[in-house]
Amino acid sequence: MTVPSREPAPDVLAAIGQTPLIRLRRASEATGCDIYGKAEFLNPGLSVKDRAALSIVQDAEAKGLIRPGGTIVEGTAGNTGIGLALVASVRGYRTLIVIPVTQSEEKKQTLRLAGARLVEVPAVPFANPNNYVHVARRLAEKLAATEPAGAFFADQFDNVANRHAHVAGTGPEIWAQTGGRVDGFVCAAGTGGTLAGTAEALRARNPQVRIALSDPEGSALYAHYTTGTLKAEGSSITEGIGQGRITRNLEGFTPDHAFRIPDREALDIVFGLMREEGLSLGGSSGINVAGAVRLARELGPGHTIVTILCDGAARYASKLFNPAFLTERNLPVPGWLDAPQDPLP
Ligand code: PMP
Repeated sequence: MTVPSREPAPDVLAAIGQTPLIRLRRASEATGCDIYGKAEFLNPGLSVKDRAALSIVQDAEAKGLIRPGGTIVEGTAGNTGIGLALVASVRGYRTLIVIPVTQSEEKKQTLRLAGARLVEVPAVPFANPNNYVHVARRLAEKLAATEPAGAFFADQFDNVANRHAHVAGTGPEIWAQTGGRVDGFVCAAGTGGTLAGTAEALRARNPQVRIALSDPEGSALYAHYTTGTLKAEGSSITEGIGQGRITRNLEGFTPDHAFRIPDREALDIVFGLMREEGLSLGGSSGINVAGAVRLARELGPGHTIVTILCDGAARYASKLFNPAFLTERNLPVPGWLDAPQDPLP
């Protein structure tokens, strides 16, 4: 398999997408399948959400919803905001980002450096009017009425330009990179854009492709797809994934399989990929690879399964890779994270 080559990019936006597929050795050997991760942490904003950010802004421009110098407003766990901030820098907009306080300081700092105005709000459920998504929508309405260049609410959860980024990009790329020999695709859902969009593109090319949801604890989707009831149990330290409702990006989508992944299982994979395969990843990638292993076990040996490596470890150094943070939450700390380094000879 060849890694796609690229023409010189006229700007950073042209460097979004066309990410490599990387074979995950330990997961593949354990299952007898070929398990690949799509390296979305290599996007310019360092996450899969650059794709949605670019697609949402392009769609808004095409519909005349955004004016030069206008403000893009969004509620986000961070990565979509980082993507929007970089798209806004290139295209001449401002960004106002509403983020729950619980998200990592690394993402907040990246947003500030990228030039976004940041509003931190308490982490409350969607049903609460002070939920970050509702706060963002209200701020966008206010700014639209007061700012001379106006404002645009990106609305990643319910704006299907998000899903379209994966129908047009992620899915066809995976198809081409595997030469059409993909048997299964699995990932977690935040907005659901990546899962539903990639599934749509792959199913259009081969209706037999098995699609799986890999859901963290604290999300209601696993219960929805297995029992028909949106019901959340437990909690997760992962960020950007899990959902309590059927967003517009998830409407009309049904997975063939659904897995509920405990943090321990995901973290074990994140730590293993870091030390044994040189892949430095965030928590949602661990949930995704854990789901790929489970799907491989359902399908049996000899299959090709693809998942998403959403973002990188550096964005979570103070959490997933902080022994005190893990210990406080009763999560195992790998020996190497805690151990003093060997003295120099
Ligand atoms: N992983 C990370 C780290 C994310 O930030 C997000 C987006 N919030 C996702 C996964 C989920 O992607 P999607 O919104 O397309 O479901």
